[in-house]
Amino acid sequence: MNIDLHIHSTASDGTLRPLEILASAHRFNLAAIAITDHDTLAGSRELLESGSLGGMKAISGVEISAAPPPLCPRQGSFHVLGYGIAFDHPRLNRALEKLQSARQDRNPKIIQRLNSLGFPLDINEVSALAGGVDGLGRPHIARLMKRKGYVASIEEAFDRYLGHGKPAYVDKFRVACEEAMGLIREAGGIPVLAHPGVTLDAAIDLDRLLTALVDMGLGGIEVYYPAHHPAQTARFAAAARRYGLLMTGGSDFHGSLKPEIQLGTGAGDLAVPFALFAALEAALDAQRLQAAGTYR
Ligand SMILES: [Zn+2]
Ligand SMILES: [Zn+2]
Repeated sequence: MNIDLHIHSTASDGTLRPLEILASAHRFNLAAIAITDHDTLAGSRELLESGSLGGMKAISGVEISAAPPPLCPRQGSFHVLGYGIAFDHPRLNRALEKLQSARQDRNPKIIQRLNSLGFPLDINEVSALAGGVDGLGRPHIARLMKRKGYVASIEEAFDRYLGHGKPAYVDKFRVACEEAMGLIREAGGIPVLAHPGVTLDAAIDLDRLLTALVDMGLGGIEVYYPAHHPAQTARFAAAARRYGLLMTGGSDFHGSLKPEIQLGTGAGDLAVPFALFAALEAALDAQRLQAAGTYR
């Protein structure tokens, strides 16, 4: 029995709607899923409020774009997954709205830069090609560039124009890492370090970083991830045990935007055991009991 706790829907930059993801998860015989859209709870909420999971387990989720913490030299996004959060927490929702509107402002700026680099395209074309999804972003712009023949592939669009430090790159607003984790905790959830093998430089002092992140409220590490090779998976699993952190895993499925990644199985060899979901649920239950005790 396998699970997938890292899935994007049309509420951010995935191409399947939440209920299509549910149907697909049934076809792949997954035992539990979490939709973790970028900076929005809408997809996760639609899944959990559909009222008909058909025996599947599901948990609320989000992937917050945070600024890298001090010990982490890498530019770009530091993704924090949040599980088991309440949908209506006001402060979390305000922060997510701010991130969403910053994302909306960013696309026109990127398009302006591409125009000045000699690529005619506009936001309506991006939106039309994306099929009216809510979370338009660079992957959709990349897809339009490919469609128009400006680049041969989505990877090329990122490598030459849209990636960090490239000529059409526009920096984006992010919440501080500590704030992201604090908001997830406040909303009753557990913050998890997303795809550390992708986010962190290989040379990073993992122990110093994790010590700092645990102080900020970190509760888990995404150990199982398609881009993690076996040595990385083992390294992060050992680190999770050392710090008493939960282990999670998922495919980072985006539908046809990342056609090489399948729900549940990732690039073909991902297998995230159900026991991790059971441990996550138990930790959330314990947290709820503790919170209830505090306010008694
Ligand atoms: Zn991510
Ligand atoms: Zn993701």
